[in-house]
Amino acid sequence: MQLPDNLQDKMLRRIAEKVCSNTPVSKEDAVYMLTTDDILGLGAIADYIRTRLHGDITYYGVNMNLNYTNICELRCPLCAFSCDESDEEAFVLSIDEIEEKMRSAVSSDLDEVHIVGGLNPKLKLDYFEQMLRLIKGIKPDIHIVAFTAVEYDYFAKINNISIQEVFRLLIDAGVHALPGGGAEIFSPDIRKVIAPKKISGEKWLDVMRTAHKIGLKTNATMLYNHRESIEDIADHLLRIRDLQDETGGFKTFVPLQFHKKNTQIAAKRSTTGYDDIRLYATSRIFLHNVPHLKALWMYLGDKMAQVLQKFGVDDIGATYDNEKVVHAAGAKTPDFGSESHLQRLIEDAGLVPKRTTANYGNNKVKGN
Ligand code: SF4
Repeated sequence: MQLPDNLQDKMLRRIAEKVCSNTPVSKEDAVYMLTTDDILGLGAIADYIRTRLHGDITYYGVNMNLNYTNICELRCPLCAFSCDESDEEAFVLSIDEIEEKMRSAVSSDLDEVHIVGGLNPKLKLDYFEQMLRLIKGIKPDIHIVAFTAVEYDYFAKINNISIQEVFRLLIDAGVHALPGGGAEIFSPDIRKVIAPKKISGEKWLDVMRTAHKIGLKTNATMLYNHRESIEDIADHLLRIRDLQDETGGFKTFVPLQFHKKNTQIAAKRSTTGYDDIRLYATSRIFLHNVPHLKALWMYLGDKMAQVLQKFGVDDIGATYDNEKVVHAAGAKTPDFGSESHLQRLIEDAGLVPKRTTANYGNNKVKGN
């Protein structure tokens, strides 16, 4: 396949030449792409890369979400999900409640469970090991994507063991892969405002480095549309790309659009369609070494997620039964999209749906 040779914009033509010669694009290129109005030119380059990597396939998943507690020590200003223990809506799922949820969920056809929660000092490692073993016992072939880098770092601290040991124990109990949450935006100045008590960007990258070295595959996220600048986004992408050059452990990059309702952040105006398109297409072009780019329909709306398949996206996310985090922040999308609806979004864009899990078919992790 070939890139269109009629790109009008000189800078985009130069970026396309770099892409064709497998030369990584620069941070300055990223800033340019994040501000261009020529979204069709940008989309042509992103689609070229997407098609080179995945042909006409778009991935989706059939999974459920398990949020085990909303009690969190950090109470980040960006978060609409967390509570103090004394709050009326605070909850911790008991192992019996998790069993009940899992048994009712696996009666429907399910490939994957996605587990994240708050940093709750009362929950020690044996709770998580029990939870994971229980889930594997109920459905041995289920793929478990569990805990953000922020949670792993916290587990190590409150259990007074190394992060390597945390990974070893939880892989042994059933973890297959990591979601990419907690990255937010790496800029220390912005982090100070949106999540001042959260681990630093450096630390987040370091936890991921350790996970990758152990053999775990992970996602990487980026929260956008709060206080960050275009330069902060370019810097975030660069740091992900650099770590990927080192470890090769990121499977998927997942930009997350910030939803401000019930948070303490007075965010920018909501994004326009052009903003989202620029962000995703730029991510696809810049992160040439990360295989997948995911647009979570639940954050963006199903129509925008569908359109983004022509702007670099090869994964539109999963059915996500019972998602709580983005809905606490005011997402208007339903918390469950049926498999047939996701297939329709893909087919209607002239692409071929392929059901998968976070490891895209390779579910083996060293140690389990
Ligand atoms: S974003 Fe995560 S770490 Fe921060 S308060 Fe919410 S649940 Fe806790």
